[in-house]
Amino acid sequence: MRKVLVVAVGIALLGLVTGCATEEATKTKPAKVKPATAAPAKTEAAKTEPVEPKPVIQYVDTPSGRWMIHDESRPAPPVITPGTFSSTRRVGQAPSDAIVLFDGAAESMKNWTDTKGGASKWIVNEGYMESVKGAGPIQTKNGFGSCQLHVEFATPANVQGTSQGRGNSGVFLQGEYEVQVLDSFENKTYPDGQCSALYGRSVPLVNACRKPGEWQSYDIVYHSAIFKDGKITRKPTFTIFQNGVLVQDHVTLEGGTQWNGPHAISAFRPIPDKGPVQLQDHGNPVRYRNIWVRPLQD
Ligand code: MG
Repeated sequence: MRKVLVVAVGIALLGLVTGCATEEATKTKPAKVKPATAAPAKTEAAKTEPVEPKPVIQYVDTPSGRWMIHDESRPAPPVITPGTFSSTRRVGQAPSDAIVLFDGAAESMKNWTDTKGGASKWIVNEGYMESVKGAGPIQTKNGFGSCQLHVEFATPANVQGTSQGRGNSGVFLQGEYEVQVLDSFENKTYPDGQCSALYGRSVPLVNACRKPGEWQSYDIVYHSAIFKDGKITRKPTFTIFQNGVLVQDHVTLEGGTQWNGPHAISAFRPIPDKGPVQLQDHGNPVRYRNIWVRPLQD
């Protein structure tokens, strides 16, 4: 009788073990086929709710080594002292065939709007316009493609903030590609974001900045981006002089200049053949004057 009981318990245990094994196998099988059946649901979701791609750390190979985008340890360009302006010796006066976008008079604000086409909240005072924190960018009513652009700017004489928080603004060509404006006079930041950098894309050849509060100039030769069917067919190029000194030498952009995470770059976004000249409000009161443009045939 005792033997029979032991055998019965043994059979019961075996059954339990087999049962568990079978149940486990049953659990595993559907898990294997799950992705195939779940995939269409994901595609549907992707159609209705586009997911922003995660920023990917980008590197750039240079003669000084391999660096991350926005890398503070990347060597900064040499600092030089540009020639000086005076009341009788100035460069950058508009030639006769230029389109004057801003000459210092309140009247010339008619050439500018906010990004929605309304009146800008930037202020005009004593021959300059100044960005107002929270007002957003200001941009020309008219769009331009390839052009020669002259802009004069001054970062605040009253120095506040550090790195990207000090005198930050920017000049955007075609409403899209930023030539950085920053107080880079004895102000360390990542070199591809310092003054006259093509933001996140190209470090200037030298640091030709004047002191905070002093007027500075950009002379930009720009050949525009062209897109066809949403794809870029011609990449934009920049040649830039800051205070008369060459800082970008016929540089081709390989993508956008938007901020896209600490060490990531942005892709080209399709834009029209012509776009506004846009000046950035980055929260610091940066001044602009004497802005003119000469459209180029190409
Ligand atoms: Mg900026």
